Amino acid sequence: MKTIRFDIISIFPGMFESPFRESLLNRARENGIVEIRTHDLREYTLNKHGRVDDTPFGGGVGLVLNVEPIDRALAAVKKDRPKAHSILLSPGGYCFDQKKAWELSRKDEIILVCGRYEGVDERVSNLVDEELSIGDYVLNGGEIPAMVIVETVARLVPGVVGDEQSLEEESFATEMLEYPQYTRPREYKGYQVPEVLVSGDHKKIEEWKRQAALEKTAKYRPDLYRKIKADGSE
Ligand code: SAH
Repeated sequence: MKTIRFDIISIFPGMFESPFRESLLNRARENGIVEIRTHDLREYTLNKHGRVDDTPFGGGVGLVLNVEPIDRALAAVKKDRPKAHSILLSPGGYCFDQKKAWELSRKDEIILVCGRYEGVDERVSNLVDEELSIGDYVLNGGEIPAMVIVETVARLVPGVVGDEQSLEEESFATEMLEYPQYTRPREYKGYQVPEVLVSGDHKKIEEWKRQAALEKTAKYRPDLYRKIKADGSE
């Protein structure tokens, strides 16, 4: 059985408790497919006041996380898992996407380092394998980005999501958004379910799904739509 382990380094390890204790991710943890450990960065500081941050060289507002506690925390985790793939969450990193998620889902061990305040000392980038951003906006810390990555990657590991076929049909699995989905009732406040979906004609349904996915992509993601057209796949 393929398993995946995440080690998360953060000054707020408590933030991860509830999100990972619910739903499919919790079941995957109970089944032993996914293992998640959090590490409190403060336990790795040598500063006698327990500090893990300091003011930036050259001036500027706010505080920056020190390189040393992060180095020591990474070393502690890597002692038992020398081959773990390490990632720093950073708004300046490569933008995390579904392709990256598939790539990470094939790893066995992943370490996620969460920044806070104004960010982390730039030298941390020498200590990790890569830096990932979850999008072009800024959060207060790397904890929620780490949760986004854990959830997105873990659900691609076989056995985490019950129905594996659903993964192949999803948005971005084919570089296109997913077709619109409907369930009961057939009419709600005058809004109807497209007739073809209840026709029982599977060929027509498949054709409708392909066309609807294409239209949705053209409307909401013209960037993806242009790529599909340029690739000549549609
Ligand atoms: N001053 C920094 C932002 C720091 S935000 C800058 O302008 O780039 C504090 C921390 O939150 C970062 O170190 C990072 O770990 C996390 N973070 C914020 N936004 C993020 C994003 N979009 N993706 C990944 N991590 C993010």
